[in-house]
Amino acid sequence: MNYKQLNLKAGIEIHQQLNTHKLFCNCSSEMKEDFEDKIERKQHPVMSELGEVDRAAKYEYLKDRKFFYKTYPTESCLVECDEEPPFPVNKEALRIGLEIALLLECDIPDEIHIMRKTVIDGSNTSGFQRTMTIGLNGKIKGPRGREIKITHVALEEDACAIERKTVNTATYKLNRLAVPLVEISTETLEGFDPKEIQEIAAKIGMILRSTGKIKRGIGTIRQDINVSIKNGPRVEIKGIQELRLISKIIENEVKRQLKTKVKEETRMANPDETTSYMRPLPGAARMYPETDLEPVKIDNLFLRKIKKQLPEILEHKKQRFEKMKLSEELAKEIAGSNYSYLFEKIVSRYKVEPKTVANVFVNTLRDLERREKIDIKKLDDDDFMKLFYLLENKKIVKESIPEILKYVVQKSMKVDDVVKKFGFETLSENELKKIVKDVIDKNKGKPQGAIVGIVMSKVRGKASAKDVIELVEENI
Ligand SMILES: [Zn+2]
Repeated sequence: MNYKQLNLKAGIEIHQQLNTHKLFCNCSSEMKEDFEDKIERKQHPVMSELGEVDRAAKYEYLKDRKFFYKTYPTESCLVECDEEPPFPVNKEALRIGLEIALLLECDIPDEIHIMRKTVIDGSNTSGFQRTMTIGLNGKIKGPRGREIKITHVALEEDACAIERKTVNTATYKLNRLAVPLVEISTETLEGFDPKEIQEIAAKIGMILRSTGKIKRGIGTIRQDINVSIKNGPRVEIKGIQELRLISKIIENEVKRQLKTKVKEETRMANPDETTSYMRPLPGAARMYPETDLEPVKIDNLFLRKIKKQLPEILEHKKQRFEKMKLSEELAKEIAGSNYSYLFEKIVSRYKVEPKTVANVFVNTLRDLERREKIDIKKLDDDDFMKLFYLLENKKIVKESIPEILKYVVQKSMKVDDVVKKFGFETLSENELKKIVKDVIDKNKGKPQGAIVGIVMSKVRGKASAKDVIELVEENI
């Protein structure tokens, strides 16, 4: 398909949850608890404050629903129930949001105004969503070196997740309400094909992950895309949860727009790359100032401190790691992992192969967690520092690392003690030589590979394969 000729236009809006407590109270944002109670609310949107009721609002409002909300012991409180005014904005969320805005090269306002955005579908108990602009006029480098403008970065509260919907009722979960969310909007992109548009979204996603302070996993990032083609209306596709679906969804939407007479509307992204009708396209300007909260002044010192400590972009980190002889895949994984700081600390302090260290953090830990159900969160920084100190000093061999870590967790012991108690100490050269000679004597005529195999089974975890092979070669 010739997207240039079709004059494909698309705007991206990304919503990303931040890994900190709720935006306007101290409730946890973990979303792990079971609900304790269910409350009922009717929605009374303040229509007078709207000026005029826009189409989308009216559409939902006319449905006249009853709303139920599930409450959670530590994941919702009176603020989420709209029975207590909001607390001042979560400073950590604001800091992470500003970090993201700065990484996107945005201008930061001197004063941040908290606004209300009308919500009538019941997904917010108060009938509005609080949002604040924290960055404007940013930019990133896009495909073919073209500059992509980031028009707007906002910090806002997430809405309730819907659990059940009938003709007259909807049941929502309060634990997702007010989870801090960063919203990033690009300019309308012209002259790009669907794959390139996906690439731009991926780049923004990479920048978000660079902070190390965003939530990960399904449902933590939601992407909306506006799509239009020559002389056609703008169609908004909401809630794309996976990056890799973006280009296919745009392709399918263009096909749909070419085939049928399309109206301006909002559609919902389905997991199979199709979309379905959701509601008419909402009009703009549904915002009015939050009266319960004062504007937040951004003082220079606070901002300067954030600028000084801006995280390294993951792409750069990955390139730096590749120079340490890591494969592209391994460099990418360790750069994006929570252990990347520890990886750097270890390879700068100890003379060990970076590849070995990265492999432990990426592959060994994953295997221990998935296959052996080991709770790897019980391993702390000191455990890993000690482990690689012992490896540098040839007190242990790298082959025994998975077993040592397993014992550290299972027995709640220190690395040192595990190594001593469970016999992971490396054999001395003489001890190893003795075993090698003994095996050669008892297995005369067997091929070298078989001899190595027998020795390895006797010294597993106490000698490296490299040393065994060398000694067998020397002595056979
Ligand atoms: Zn709360």
